[in-house]
Amino acid sequence: MASYIKKEQRIPIVYHTDVAVAGCGCAGTMAAVAAARNGVNVLVIERYGFPGGAATAQYVPLISIWNLSPWADEEKPLIGGLAQEICKRLDEVGGSIRPEEAFSAQKRGDFPSIIREVRWELDLRGHSGVGIFVSGGLDEEAVRTLGEAGADGFGVGTYVSCAPAVDFAFDIVEVEGRPSAKRGKLGGRKQVWRCPRCMVDIVRPATEAGPGCPRCGGEMEEMLRPLIRGGEIVGELPEPKEIRRRTLAQIDLMKSQP
Ligand SMILES: [Zn+2]
Repeated sequence: MASYIKKEQRIPIVYHTDVAVAGCGCAGTMAAVAAARNGVNVLVIERYGFPGGAATAQYVPLISIWNLSPWADEEKPLIGGLAQEICKRLDEVGGSIRPEEAFSAQKRGDFPSIIREVRWELDLRGHSGVGIFVSGGLDEEAVRTLGEAGADGFGVGTYVSCAPAVDFAFDIVEVEGRPSAKRGKLGGRKQVWRCPRCMVDIVRPATEAGPGCPRCGGEMEEMLRPLIRGGEIVGELPEPKEIRRRTLAQIDLMKSQP
């Protein structure tokens, strides 16, 4: 077999350490803190000028941790360890409000009011230098409204870069068959039933039988069907021509609705 000899390299040793953590994103930060707390010498190497990775640059994981409501169940929290510590520290300095407050009936979805409250609490505790960043389903109008309420930064994506989206969400709603959703969300697996004649949609728990169409009384069709299972495509993938035909037919149906 043909081969070549790789030249040896002289690699300077600039630092001696017990543990070297490459990358100070969420995982790296946790690894470094955990190692240091166990009494070893730790070196963290980070290519950007700040720790936290996506949590700092895009504010994503912290929002997710927040969603998991670390305080909601003290005995059996959904997150633990350092992530929970960070949430509790944020809570102590007024950098977050508790899920039960954020999602209370009068505030549910009222992000301007939540932002105003967080800003107030932060300022009161001398953290006026801490900015508030919001993300998720933000369109141009939301950016304006939330900016006026005190948001300093925005994570924007699909809603401003693509054609208008109807809506979509990624949330845990069920764990091993048990409904488990954060506040403000309907728990449990669901099925969307649609009447193919009236284009009426109804959402029901997945375990329930399909309802009759409230308009025409006819049978409704299941809209949520598995497309990929175990890495294999198991659903039908219609040709673009067929998708176009079906979409135009549905538009005609919607036009004829009262
Ligand atoms: Zn119908």
